[in-house]
Amino acid sequence: MTAEHRHNPLPEGTDAEIAIVGAGLSGTIAANVLARAGYNVILIDRHSVFPREFRVEKVSSDQAEKLRRLGLLDRLSTAAVAFDDIVNIRRGRILDRTHARHYGIFYDDLVAAMRAELPENVRFISGRVNGLETGADRQRVSILDHHDVTARLLVLATGMGDILKRDVGIERHFVHQKQSLTFGFNLRPVGASAFKHPAVTYYGERVSDGIDYLTLFPAADVTRANLFVFRDHRDPWVKALRERPRETLIETLPGLVKTFGDFEVINRVDSWLTDITVAQNCVRNGIVLIGDAYQTSCPAAGTGVSRLLTDVERLCTVHVPDWMASPGMTAAKIATFYDDPVKLAMDEHGLHMADFRRSLTIDTDLRWRARRQLHFSRRRVMQRIDALSPAFAARLRSFKKPRIEATT
Ligand SMILES: Cc1cc2nc3c(=O)[nH]c(=O)nc-3n(C[C@H](O)[C@H](O)[C@H](O)COP(=O)(O)OP(=O)(O)OC[C@H]3O[C@@H](n4cnc5c(N)ncnc54)[C@H](O)[C@@H]3O)c2cc1C
Repeated sequence: MTAEHRHNPLPEGTDAEIAIVGAGLSGTIAANVLARAGYNVILIDRHSVFPREFRVEKVSSDQAEKLRRLGLLDRLSTAAVAFDDIVNIRRGRILDRTHARHYGIFYDDLVAAMRAELPENVRFISGRVNGLETGADRQRVSILDHHDVTARLLVLATGMGDILKRDVGIERHFVHQKQSLTFGFNLRPVGASAFKHPAVTYYGERVSDGIDYLTLFPAADVTRANLFVFRDHRDPWVKALRERPRETLIETLPGLVKTFGDFEVINRVDSWLTDITVAQNCVRNGIVLIGDAYQTSCPAAGTGVSRLLTDVERLCTVHVPDWMASPGMTAAKIATFYDDPVKLAMDEHGLHMADFRRSLTIDTDLRWRARRQLHFSRRRVMQRIDALSPAFAARLRSFKKPRIEATT
């Protein structure tokens, strides 16, 4: 994206085929795909440069594959740190290993990389959208300190906030309030020049701790930690983690230092409390919601980016070409996106994985105790078979391939 894209003021009466509000990951990728298909696109965001906010920082191999299909993997590969092996550890013992290409990258760098790919036929406007008017033919977007913009189709990719959605009568249904807590911080090795493994997933040791897993991986020039927890945000443990992260982690995960190496935490602990929400009453003339604006995801489930990439791929490669081929942008057209079976399956998978991670981590009834035991024992056994005969282990895995890949 050139400086010209960002700073050229829009003349009065500016009209586009498609206006996208929100240039986080979903809006920016959608703008790339639509502009490459030849549509005239206006992309609007309140930040000319996405700030350092805490969101996804580890892109999994199935998400990278979707980016490849959308023609954006090369840019991710250049901007991120690639790593291929993750050592999975529980209770101080190696459980198994994951061999697949992952990418570590801070979210602002990820959004910047995707924005840098925007073709010339995307006009980027830096400004806060403060009003929307939708209809069966034309949509109007009001932007603070700019002239209004009109478009045939309005794509809302504004993330979790719901002020604009409410403007057009779209509500937020809470599937699970305060579903999970996520922490992010940077680590440096102590007493060694490097950690024992470049990337580790360390699972919680006791159900009462409410820790799903800690993932440690390279991003930019640091080792980044993402910790996924199902615990009340007012719990004193949460305060202790923020104030004394090293000591609190060592107390809660006693095998961590032995298997990963001693460490110090070198920056402030970022934290995020997630609500799982789904938009309601969104089948309306002229407007379509994608990414977190439609449905949020539990960070522990690692499905947020898979969801938004599915939204973008289905919307931009299947539905928009169909909608644009005839006059009007009625609710009947828009409904075909929300009824798309691929999207529906992905959305359902996101909700299912959010419940699954939570129950696997903290549920104590007999069923979940047995399931937890089975889950980790099966992985340990598969790891042993893998060591003896990788070909046989691969055959066994192929019998039960997950419908949609999960990262953990
Ligand atoms: C802590 C955390 C960890 C996560 N970890 C993972 C993970 O490991 N794996 C995974 O797959 N997913 C993860 N996710 C989920 C993933 O990060 C999100 O699904 C994804 O970032 C959503 O992108 P988006 O573009 O929909 O929203 P956002 O990135 O939030 O973008 C919304 C954009 O809209 C703009 N905007 C909003 N309102 C206005 C307005 N009025 N005017 C103009 N612009 C506006 C904002 O400035 C912003 O740029 C995590 C999320 C969190 C919070």
